[in-house]
Amino acid sequence: MAYVVIAFCFGLAGGIVGKVKGSSFLIWFLISAIVPFLGLAAALLYRWDRDELRRQCPGCGKVVKLHDALCTRCGTELEFPDVAIEPESVSAMRR
Ligand SMILES: [Zn+2]
Repeated sequence: MAYVVIAFCFGLAGGIVGKVKGSSFLIWFLISAIVPFLGLAAALLYRWDRDELRRQCPGCGKVVKLHDALCTRCGTELEFPDVAIEPESVSAMRR
């Protein structure tokens, strides 16, 4: 019985962390409840794609992640850019 209470508490904490980071409350609630310590740690450490800087491919104009070395659409090799595009999470907040 105690385990259920602990799992529920971790699930709740993980779910809130996930929600704050713009992910799904339910998904992180389940992950944290099933694997309490690891799930919560994963929720805290996970880097959401939405928070990453982006830049535009000079070849085809596709917006890709800043750390991508190759464009995922046209395969152009990408230099580290001078200008980065703000993360999706920031753009979303301004909307
Ligand atoms: Zn491209």
